[in-house]
Amino acid sequence: MADHAVVWERNRKGTAGFGVILPPEVLDLLRRTVPRLADAVSPHLARWEKTCVSRNRERWMTATPPMAAIARSTLNRLLWRECDAQGVVLREREAPKLPALASSYDLVVCADGAGSQAHQAGFVTTVEEIGPPYAWLGTAQSLDTLTFLAESTVDGCYMAHAYPFSDSAGTFLVEGRRARTPTDLTALFGLPVRPDPARDNSVWRRFRERTVRSWSRGNIVLVGDSAHTVHYSIGSGTHLAFEDAVVLVESLAAAGSLHRALSLYEETRRPVVEQFQGLGRISAEWFSRVDDVFDLPLSRFAAGLLTRGGRFGRVGGTSTPP
Ligand SMILES: Cc1cc2nc3c(=O)[nH]c(=O)nc-3n(C[C@H](O)[C@H](O)[C@H](O)COP(=O)(O)OP(=O)(O)OC[C@H]3O[C@@H](n4cnc5c(N)ncnc54)[C@H](O)[C@@H]3O)c2cc1C
Repeated sequence: MADHAVVWERNRKGTAGFGVILPPEVLDLLRRTVPRLADAVSPHLARWEKTCVSRNRERWMTATPPMAAIARSTLNRLLWRECDAQGVVLREREAPKLPALASSYDLVVCADGAGSQAHQAGFVTTVEEIGPPYAWLGTAQSLDTLTFLAESTVDGCYMAHAYPFSDSAGTFLVEGRRARTPTDLTALFGLPVRPDPARDNSVWRRFRERTVRSWSRGNIVLVGDSAHTVHYSIGSGTHLAFEDAVVLVESLAAAGSLHRALSLYEETRRPVVEQFQGLGRISAEWFSRVDDVFDLPLSRFAAGLLTRGGRFGRVGGTSTPP
C-alpha cells in the first residue's frame, strides 16, 4: 500500500477557462484549513459588493453581500503549487481505471468532474438537463461588478451573467433559446465577447445536474462534481468541491474505520449539497422563464432576479435610464 498521495491529471494545462465565483466562505475555509493557499489566493481575487441589472441597456444597481471571483487558470496554478509544497506525486496522464486503483491504494478519491468515470465502478448516477441553453464565454472588457444583462430579440430574451475575475477580463455566461456566435453576442450586448480557445465551452448546451445514489463504494469515494453538480447560476460548485474535500479529511481523522469515515462524510455533506441543488433548480427555472417577467418594471424584474431561490433577503436599488 502507498504511503503518499498521488494525483492523476490528464489535462493540467488545458483547464484555462475563464473566471469562477468564490464566495467569501471559501476563503474562510481555506484560511482555516490551508492558510498558505488562502494567502496565495487572496491577492488574485476580483471583489465586488454591488450587482447591476441591465435590461435593454437600462441599468439598475443595488448593494449586495461581498462576492469575489478568480481566474480558473490562476486557481489551478496555486492549487498545483500547494500540491508540490505538500509532496503530492503528480502523474500527468489519464488515471487508471477505478477498480485497478482500488486494489492498489488504501483510499481512492474520485474527483474527475461532471463527466466522471464513477459509473464504471458501479456508482448509480442520474443526470438531468435543467435551465436554458447556455454558452460559457469571456469578455476582454473590464467589468466593475457582477452584471446581469438582458436583451430582447425576436427569439425572446438573451441573458448574460457577467463578472470580473481580474482587472482586465470577465466571465460571460450567456443563455438564450438559439445558439449565437460571439460576434452576434458582441453586437447584441455591446461587450466584446470571446470563446475560450482551450475549451469547447462556447458550444451551446443545457446544464447537466448530476446526482449519485451513494458517494462511496468500498475504498472509493466521490468528491465535487463527480458526486453532484449544482446549476451554475448560483456559483457554488467549486465552493462545494472544496468543502467536500475538507469534510472528507475531517471525517477520516474523526472516525475509527474507513467505512465509518466515508459514511460520516456523506451524512455530513449530502443535506448541504441537496439544499444547494434545490436552490440551483429554482434559479435555473427562473432563467428558463425569463420571457414571462421581462416586461415588468425594471425594479421588479431586478428584485425577482436577485431574490430567485431566496438568494438575498431584501433588495433596493437605483435605476439609470439607457
Ligand atoms: C457554466 C458553468 C459555470 C460555473 N461557474 C461556477 C462559479 O462561478 N463558481 C463555482 O463555484 N462553480 C462554478 N461552476 C462549477 C464548477 O466549475 C465545478 O463545480 C468545479 O469545477 C468542480 O470541481 P471538480 O474538481 O469536482 O471538477 P473539475 O473542475 O471538472 O475537475 C476535474 C478534473 O479531473 C480531470 N480528469 C477527469 N477525468 C480524468 C481522468 N480519467 N484521468 C485524469 N484526469 C481526469 C480533469 O482534467 C479536471 O481537471 C460552473 C460550472 C459551469 C458548467
